[in-house]
Amino acid sequence: MYNQSMEREIDLKQISDGKLYSANDMIKAGCGDCAGCSLCCHEMGNSIILDPCDIFNLEKGLHTTFEKLMESRIELNVVDGIIQPNLKMQGSRECCAFLNEEGRCAVHEFRPGFCRMFPLGRIYEDGDFRYFLQIHECPYPNKTKVKLKKWLGIPELGKYEAYVKKWHYFLKDVQEIIREKGTDRDESGEVIKKLNMYLLNQFYVKPYETVPDKGKELDFYGQFYERLGQAETIVKMYR
Ligand code: SF4
Ligand code: SF4
Repeated sequence: MYNQSMEREIDLKQISDGKLYSANDMIKAGCGDCAGCSLCCHEMGNSIILDPCDIFNLEKGLHTTFEKLMESRIELNVVDGIIQPNLKMQGSRECCAFLNEEGRCAVHEFRPGFCRMFPLGRIYEDGDFRYFLQIHECPYPNKTKVKLKKWLGIPELGKYEAYVKKWHYFLKDVQEIIREKGTDRDESGEVIKKLNMYLLNQFYVKPYETVPDKGKELDFYGQFYERLGQAETIVKMYR
C-alpha cells in the first residue's frame, strides 16, 4: 500500500485513474462488502498510520487507553522525523491485530481513517486535499460506483476533513522544524527527541475524554483543537 497521505510530487498516473475526487463525487470502489476477502488487513507493514482521531475512536470504542493499545494492537514508528502510532501487523500471516478469526475487522464501526478510505488515498496541495483512487490495491473485480462520502461513512464529514487538513499541515510544520534542527548542532538529537516526546504525549498518550459529561455532547474536535492550540505555542519555541 502506498503511504496514502502524500504531497503532489508522485506520479498519480502510475497508481490511480488520474482523477481527483471530493466527498460528493462517485467513485468506482464498491467491493461487495469485501465478502471473503481481508487482503488489505494483511502485510501492511507500518503503513496504516493512526492520527489522534483514530486513537480517540479506538479508546472510546474499546473503552481502553493508548497504553493498553500499545500492549498488542498498535506500535510506534518514526514517519518523516515524527514518532507516530500505526496498526501492528502480527503472526506468520502478518495480520492486523484487529482482524478476527473469521477474517473480519473487530473494530469495523470505529476503524481508523486509512482503513475507511482504502483503496482511496489523499493528496495534499495548497493547504487542501483531494482523494484519489488507487487502482492496483484492491483486487475485487467489477467494482461498483459509490458516493465517496458514503464510502467513508464518517459523521460530520466537513468537520472531519477540516481536522484532517489541520493535522496534516501541523505535522508538515513540525517536520520542517525537525529537518532544520537535524542539519544543525550536535545537541539537535536531544531537542528533536524532546519535541517528539511532547507531541506523542499531547496528541496520543494523554487520554481523551471518551465518556460524555452529563448534558454535554462528546466532542473529539473540541479536545483536539484545544491540544493543538497548546502545541502550536510550544512548537513555536523550537523554531
Ligand atoms: S482488498 Fe478490497 S475486497 Fe479485499 S478487504 Fe480490502 S477493500 Fe475489501
Ligand atoms: S483495523 Fe480493521 S480494517 Fe483496518 S487493517 Fe485492521 S482489521 Fe483491517
